[in-house]
Amino acid sequence: MENSELLRGKLLREYQTIAAMVEIYCKAHKHDAKPMSACPECLEFLAYAHTKLDRCPYGQDKPSCKKCPVHCYKPQMKDKAREIMVFAGPKMLFPHPIMAIRHLLSARDLVPNKPPANQSNRHLRKLGENQ
Ligand SMILES: [Zn+2]
Repeated sequence: MENSELLRGKLLREYQTIAAMVEIYCKAHKHDAKPMSACPECLEFLAYAHTKLDRCPYGQDKPSCKKCPVHCYKPQMKDKAREIMVFAGPKMLFPHPIMAIRHLLSARDLVPNKPPANQSNRHLRKLGENQ
């Protein structure tokens, strides 16, 4: 679940971080399905996050979502993302110290005003496939 065949680099690390947070969140909330890999609600969220990472217009220069000027999540998913991060963020330090620290540091990066053209992971992947 914490892997992706499509993402790489920074986007992959970010996906792994959110996947780890979703897992912490889901377990703690005792969602109906056990194991967590069968919780439809959390899986749907994670798949959504994955798609958004793949399509992030900043690509490998993706800023922290918190600071990003592009509001790409629909409101319901944005609420869920916030809920998961507020809950699981502080609990990340023990099981995933490197991810947690990287996540905190990336929140301090400066945010470019406008995404560059054609830099999303998805776009670059499609280009590669056509070659
Ligand atoms: Zn769940």
